Amino acid sequence: MPELPEVETSARGLRLKILGLRAVWVGGVDWPRMLPNTTEADLSDTLCGHTVTGVDRRGKYLLLGFDHDAWLCVHRKMSGNLLLQPRTIAPPLHTHLDVAFDDGTAIRFVDPRKFGRVYLFRSADERDDFLGERLGPDSLVDLDELTLAARLQRRKGRIKSLLLDQAFLAGVGNLYADEALWQSRIHPLRTADSLSRPEIKRLSQAIRGVLIAAIERRGTSFSASYRDAEGEPGEGQAFLNAYGREAEPCPRCGTRINRILVGARGTHFCPRCQPVRPRRRAAALRSQ
Ligand SMILES: [Zn+2]
Repeated sequence: MPELPEVETSARGLRLKILGLRAVWVGGVDWPRMLPNTTEADLSDTLCGHTVTGVDRRGKYLLLGFDHDAWLCVHRKMSGNLLLQPRTIAPPLHTHLDVAFDDGTAIRFVDPRKFGRVYLFRSADERDDFLGERLGPDSLVDLDELTLAARLQRRKGRIKSLLLDQAFLAGVGNLYADEALWQSRIHPLRTADSLSRPEIKRLSQAIRGVLIAAIERRGTSFSASYRDAEGEPGEGQAFLNAYGREAEPCPRCGTRINRILVGARGTHFCPRCQPVRPRRRAAALRSQ
């Protein structure tokens, strides 16, 4: 599933190419359920004749702003990709929305599994109300040790599950949660209230670190489904330390990476580097 680095990579690619372009045609909707708060006709009436003035990202949502403060808000879910192509090329299989611009290019929303969603908002306030109800602090822009410590206070859930909760922290999904927990040496089943302050600091730095590194690699195409705006895969898959590496040696200590289910999500970790019970706590228990 595209997570923050993949959406950020797409946003940066699109920003270079579509700012200032005018939408001239909207169509191609063959899956109305992907439009929870609008229709093809509504999109066409609202967007045609208007110029793209902003390309942004919040959590895993990609935002396209237009000159009259209308916003297209795209969540790619499992397999959605936004491709910028010449209109002369036929839309790829599984294209569910096509927005054409006055320079002869078009954005195609291509989503074989059909879980992706596209929303239309008529003002930044309407957009922010929607996103505010769903998203906690952005894990790239807003995250630091103090923010994470404050969010973890009074929470008792498993840290892995909390990291996947977009209302807790926006942008991290299954892959980067596993990588950040491996990086910070925290077992995925640890409870939020068991984390020490140094662990919280390590975790906040690890989350930002793995996201920034993945953005520099233009995202991770683990399941071969993610593509950037030009249709290219990312390069992050060659740099994974834990995710998808079940039974392979941990790059830090050589122990085999384990895979368990946490909240029905496949979760990868090193049982030696990421002990269920950290040494300091185990030592304290032994001395009792
Ligand atoms: Zn290890």
